[in-house]
Amino acid sequence: MTRVFNFSAGPATLPESVLLQAQAEMLDWNGVGASIVEISHRSADFIAVAAEAEADLRTLIGIPENYAVLFLSGGATTQQALLALNFAAPGQTVDYVVTGHWGKTAIKQVAPYAKVNIAADGEPEGFRSIPARDGWKLTPDAAYVHITANETIHGVEFRPVDGKGAAPDVGSVPLFADFSSSIASEPIDVSKYGVIYAGAQKNLGPVGVAVVIIRRDLLERSGQPRADIFDYRSHAARDSMLNTPPTWNWYLAGLVFKWMLAQGGVAEFARRNALKSKLVYDAIDASGGFYRNEVVPQARSRMNIPYFLPDETLTARFVAESKAAGLLALKGHKAVGGLRASLYNALPVEAAQALVGFMHDFQKRNG
Ligand SMILES: *Cc1c(COP(=O)(O)O)cnc(C)c1O
Repeated sequence: MTRVFNFSAGPATLPESVLLQAQAEMLDWNGVGASIVEISHRSADFIAVAAEAEADLRTLIGIPENYAVLFLSGGATTQQALLALNFAAPGQTVDYVVTGHWGKTAIKQVAPYAKVNIAADGEPEGFRSIPARDGWKLTPDAAYVHITANETIHGVEFRPVDGKGAAPDVGSVPLFADFSSSIASEPIDVSKYGVIYAGAQKNLGPVGVAVVIIRRDLLERSGQPRADIFDYRSHAARDSMLNTPPTWNWYLAGLVFKWMLAQGGVAEFARRNALKSKLVYDAIDASGGFYRNEVVPQARSRMNIPYFLPDETLTARFVAESKAAGLLALKGHKAVGGLRASLYNALPVEAAQALVGFMHDFQKRNG
């Protein structure tokens, strides 16, 4: 068996020890004589797995008691649509700060249900930075302000400013954030947010489950007429078991949470992620323009690094040769082209070192 270094943007690499444990437990989970995917979500056994995963995630991220934690199917995109249905009154304005592709998706999903105000838009500048906070056109009585904490495709991330956390100050309107590609990658102050949501398949586990963290007072909002299954309050009241939850994905995410805690928690992953991303950015910046990343340094993502070679022929060669060298999935997203290295929690520091070594070697041969 050969396991390569996997730079996939999502679904993404998982800790090998977690995969091995899941493999070992596949046929007989915990002496039950059946797989965890074969037993009822209403069984005491599964309820214990689910509750433990929630408790571990609370510890890992530091989620206060006055926040509900939901594990839902439908991915991050479904949550983008549900935000307005649950938290915006009919006709109420919702404010969106767009810093890349996923911010645009969030607007597309919410547009049928709310009046969208684009408070700031990085697109005219080519999504190379976070628009300066003092230029945002916020609506005083908006239902919420939505940001994308890390733009997975454009490689733009909200970073701490002036010694304060990365969460922008938006006054008394609740801040909602799509953390799909950066959740649990560094310590954050959850209390600065009204809602945090994330598809699991980048930093938390397998695709098929999304985590939604909601300040409980927001669940009192009446929102808009909606089916029970689209109602976060109902999901919270039933511990995310309103219908059959994605049990396998929830279980596997739970194993990842335990692995992260055992490795030293988010503080340790923040250290590793800073190290990995610095290695790659330094290699890009020291290449004399052979490799290029176009994001301003203050907004460079620690998780996803899109970068470019001088031409398409070299790009195709880099992708093919890196793959042959055991570095998987470095091709850029089709929306921006070029290359992209995703450096999520489960990607070891050695992978970034191997990538940088390959980049030096490739430049020597082609530069
Ligand atoms: C991957 C991603 C999404 C989409 O997630 P799905 O689970 O496929 O719906 C949304 N936002 C961000 C920031 C992402 O990285």
